Amino acid sequence: MIYFQSLTQEELAQLLLPVSRVTTRSGEMNEELEKKSVKRAQYRAKQIFHWVYQRYVLEWDQMSDLSKDLRTWLKENVEIYRLKETVSRQGLDGTHKFLWGLPDGKTIESVIIPAALQEKKNAFGNAPDGGSFEIDQDDEDSENSRGDIEALKGYRKVSSPTKSAFAGRKASDSNLSSESWSRLTACISSQVGCAMACKFCLTGVQGLDRHLQTHEIVTQVHELRMRAPITNIVFMGMGEPLHNFESVVKACQIMLDQDGMNFSKRKVTISTSGLVSAIEELGKRVDVSLAISLNASNDEQRSQIMPVNKKWNIEALMTACRNYPLGSHRRITFEYVMLKDFNDTLEDAARVAKLVRGIPSKLNLIPFNEHSGSEFKRPNDESVKKFQQYLLDRNITCTVRISRGRDISAACGQLRSLFGSARGTDKHRDRSEQQPQA
Ligand code: SF4
Repeated sequence: MIYFQSLTQEELAQLLLPVSRVTTRSGEMNEELEKKSVKRAQYRAKQIFHWVYQRYVLEWDQMSDLSKDLRTWLKENVEIYRLKETVSRQGLDGTHKFLWGLPDGKTIESVIIPAALQEKKNAFGNAPDGGSFEIDQDDEDSENSRGDIEALKGYRKVSSPTKSAFAGRKASDSNLSSESWSRLTACISSQVGCAMACKFCLTGVQGLDRHLQTHEIVTQVHELRMRAPITNIVFMGMGEPLHNFESVVKACQIMLDQDGMNFSKRKVTISTSGLVSAIEELGKRVDVSLAISLNASNDEQRSQIMPVNKKWNIEALMTACRNYPLGSHRRITFEYVMLKDFNDTLEDAARVAKLVRGIPSKLNLIPFNEHSGSEFKRPNDESVKKFQQYLLDRNITCTVRISRGRDISAACGQLRSLFGSARGTDKHRDRSEQQPQA
């Protein structure tokens, strides 16, 4: 059985060609009929992409404009993959986290992260309810169309949040109101675990179990879209997407396909820890936005927390960024996880300013989301603000991201640690004994 979500539209058309043949009455073939057959297969592939990705129909029998023979063939040969929802939690800020069970007993995470319209007004100031910071909004995201915003108005939370304070802010119903959201970002995983071993990251501590296949990546977005009007996709969940290069590139092609998920190239972002050779290749293969997990201002510091830096240092990384084929008005996002007394000084800010100079870019400061798997601490609000101001004063676009979903273990790898099959947990040990089911 082939999983539908593992196929690009072209691959599906190829698969359908033998059952789309047009022949003469006597069953013969000629060049003209061969061309007709190819067109027929392509047309059918397009119809099926519309049914699944745009109309969310998941039963072959319900695709009423396909012939009965074709539907029967599809039932016997192609499966529309589903992810099993194991845990679903919504936080007080509307962040909604999902843990999916895979047939081999592994688990992965995806998160829906809303961005609020009201927060935009306060991009560099105080939150309206007295919280300290705002947000990861930026110019490119602000281009989300009126249509996107209208679509969000129909979306409501799908589970009740727990009634406790969120991130030191008082819970209010407006946090959960889709009326005030400007976008819903799907943050998805590309691997079960991760091999990159970044010191501040819970997934990094857990190690790599396996790569996700294309259908497992695509289906995360598909499942989320069946629950909410997703406007943006970021590969910032579990895993290093460029370590699973081919599957991720193909998943992006399906997400960008106008007959498929139909996302704009600006709204699909791959975030990498810095696999330089893969960044170079990515630019040639698919046109998506790029984010770099920088997190340090010099090599010595970066190598301490990100082993990848020993292979590709900051200079090599910045060269790859300068060469990345950005379209007009597009920028690379540099993510900078701020760690108390490690990379949060004004000297660090000065070095960062120098590094990104000349690269069309924006910086996203992320005060560390503390978790039990790491010794690092979150810097205080004052030092984050000073760091941000230093960069703003030098005309570098710089936002501060609130850690989303802190009340629901939304940091990378946390939900999987609590409920899933993370290495070292009892559940991982139990499941590792089991045979894969499919
Ligand atoms: S931060 Fe990203 S690349 Fe680094 S270990 Fe975590 S998941 Fe992997």
